[in-house]
Amino acid sequence: MDLAYHNQTLSGTIANKGIAFGRICFLKREKAEQIKKTVDNTNDEIDRFEKARLHAISQLGALYEASLEKLGEQNAVVFQIHQMMLDDPEYISSIHNLIISEKSNAEYAVTTVAHRFEKQFLEMDNDYMRGRAGDVIDVSRRINEILMMHAGKLEHRGLRFSIDGPIILATDDLVPSETVQLDQHTVTGIITSKGSDRSHTAIFARTMGIPTIVCIGSQLKEEYEGLYAIVDANAGNVIICPDDEIICKYREIKRTDDVQSSHLEDYRGKATLTRSGAQIRLYANSGSLADLDLIKASDAEGIGLFRSEYIYMQAQDYPTEEEQFKIYRDVLKGMDNKKVIIRTLDIGADKTAEYFMLKPEENPAMGVRAIRLCLNNRALFKTQLRALYRASLYGNLSVMIPMVTSVEEVVECKSIIEEAKAELSSQGLGYKQGVEFGVMIETPAAALISDELAQHVDFFSIGTNDLTQFTLACDRQNAELGKYLNPYHHGVIRLIEMTVRNGHAAGIWVGICGELASDEKFLGKLIQIGVDEMSVVPSSILSLRAKIATLG
Ligand code: PEP
Ligand code: MG
Repeated sequence: MDLAYHNQTLSGTIANKGIAFGRICFLKREKAEQIKKTVDNTNDEIDRFEKARLHAISQLGALYEASLEKLGEQNAVVFQIHQMMLDDPEYISSIHNLIISEKSNAEYAVTTVAHRFEKQFLEMDNDYMRGRAGDVIDVSRRINEILMMHAGKLEHRGLRFSIDGPIILATDDLVPSETVQLDQHTVTGIITSKGSDRSHTAIFARTMGIPTIVCIGSQLKEEYEGLYAIVDANAGNVIICPDDEIICKYREIKRTDDVQSSHLEDYRGKATLTRSGAQIRLYANSGSLADLDLIKASDAEGIGLFRSEYIYMQAQDYPTEEEQFKIYRDVLKGMDNKKVIIRTLDIGADKTAEYFMLKPEENPAMGVRAIRLCLNNRALFKTQLRALYRASLYGNLSVMIPMVTSVEEVVECKSIIEEAKAELSSQGLGYKQGVEFGVMIETPAAALISDELAQHVDFFSIGTNDLTQFTLACDRQNAELGKYLNPYHHGVIRLIEMTVRNGHAAGIWVGICGELASDEKFLGKLIQIGVDEMSVVPSSILSLRAKIATLG
């Protein structure tokens, strides 16, 4: 044990839970030539870049094929996204222009433009786009390595580790094409100084089941190379040079975790039943098509909340009907006829996209957002509804409206849906009959008039995140108000009880899709209240199913 580092603990953001043991090994990358050189013939340099770019595109095609089996289509698709990045006219022309204007070598132009794009992605105000910063670095690094290979300076691209045996891979950030090459038996854990828990790297690590902590920052130092460490990705800590007592403690935790998760496997493919045999539908929350493999691996019985606004937040401009249709269709097809509840656009407040040019408001959480914004922009709303109903032919779709406060809003939404369906029929475009239509109960007003709302819908889904915020007059974004934002407050619980009672009295089902549904401490209460469906983070499906079996 190196006494200088004895039990030193670093902390970061959990990207995939679990415990891992091994020696820290920093990823060694062949440094691509980034030094600026002046070239005589810029046309030759552009030509070198173009050859490398085309070579990279064909490599990515092969990588896509190879990843299909290992990671599934939804994850492999990142390599198609990389191919598209390499075909992006802005990216290409920026590199050409830099070569010409600065008479620079291709490697320097590629690196400079990559960092410029990376900075732009990192400055964007949504997590998904920030997660793409790593992708642009990845594709650019690939081109630079090909340029070096063509110049005979690099033999092959691939990961090499200087340490044998189980390692904890340490690096500033991993890019998707590196993550896919990892062997779970060698790499037991991943720790990165940068990165985001929404990046493809994090998604891949989850899919491959490697405990991962990102965003450790400058605490992660190269001097830890070769030291034994424990990754406690349940708590977000890395313990360097742990003493024997700590190692024993974590071996025991890991043993218990392994026993528990193998025991959880007994619940895979089973219905979710309470002790007395009442059935509850256990669905997963989803933000994008990219979550699909995770959701399928989680054994969710359906998707209880597909936050469609993420599609808008990931786009540079309003997504067209066709673009949306393809995404909804692929989600529905991917879920093999299991129920998929897609919530219509819930933009506004903390969820924004620049091109919406939302007017600044004093209280955006209570402003022109979600269904209010859609009813003010019927064309925007209708585009989404048309895409949704067209996609309904490909699976088991339900449509749900966010932030409802009145019966009038629901009636108006239904009439726009009828208009959208009539338009589709007149254009010879099909849709499924009997698509379930529901509303989210996430304002106190909606809960209080849930008896009236129930007359107009097929189901309710209770959004406890907003219901708590609005019932307790407590901004959910304000970290200082944490202790006031109490979902167990009797005011919130009474509104949940009232909603379930009113829904059942009208003969409709009632689900819950806020974070409270994943709260094991509150499960007993939810079962007692009689919710029919719970939509939760995919990773907690099996443990909740096991817990529910002991309750009620
Ligand atoms: C909620 O408010 O509980 C909910 C599920 O919606 P969101 O968290 O997306 O606002
Ligand atoms: Mg909400």
